[in-house]
Amino acid sequence: MKKDDCIFCKLSNGDIPTNALYEDDVVKVIFDLNPASKGHVLILPKNHFDDIYSMDDATAAHVFQVAVKVAKAMKETLGCEGLNIVQNNGEIAGQTVFHFHMHIIPRYKGDTVNI
Ligand code: 5GP
Ligand code: ZN
Repeated sequence: MKKDDCIFCKLSNGDIPTNALYEDDVVKVIFDLNPASKGHVLILPKNHFDDIYSMDDATAAHVFQVAVKVAKAMKETLGCEGLNIVQNNGEIAGQTVFHFHMHIIPRYKGDTVNI
């Protein structure tokens, strides 16, 4: 289910075109507009969930399976030395877009990423 006026609904469902690293029926993996490091991506479910509290188990499991694939691909192709997975829920936790998303942030020696 899409939500009107949700930017991540539009991006994940192709209503607004964007470069995708990966896409299937359930998720789209897009590049963050303001990357914390080279290769920073967001995993977006195509259905709208405000946050982790409203997610169903099947979507949650799929998101994490895709995160594992993306992590392995980053390790092989980007030359990163590690990565952070970040998933913010609620304004107090730093959530700014209220459509569930998981950040995958590659880490490089000497980078200045603040998580
Ligand atoms: P949050 O703070 O909600 O966990 O993260 C929101 C993220 O979405 C931020 O890292 C921000 O740069 C990214 N973002 C916000 N608007 C857009 C957009 O229109 N396109 C893309 N690709 N990323 C966006
Ligand atoms: Zn949405």
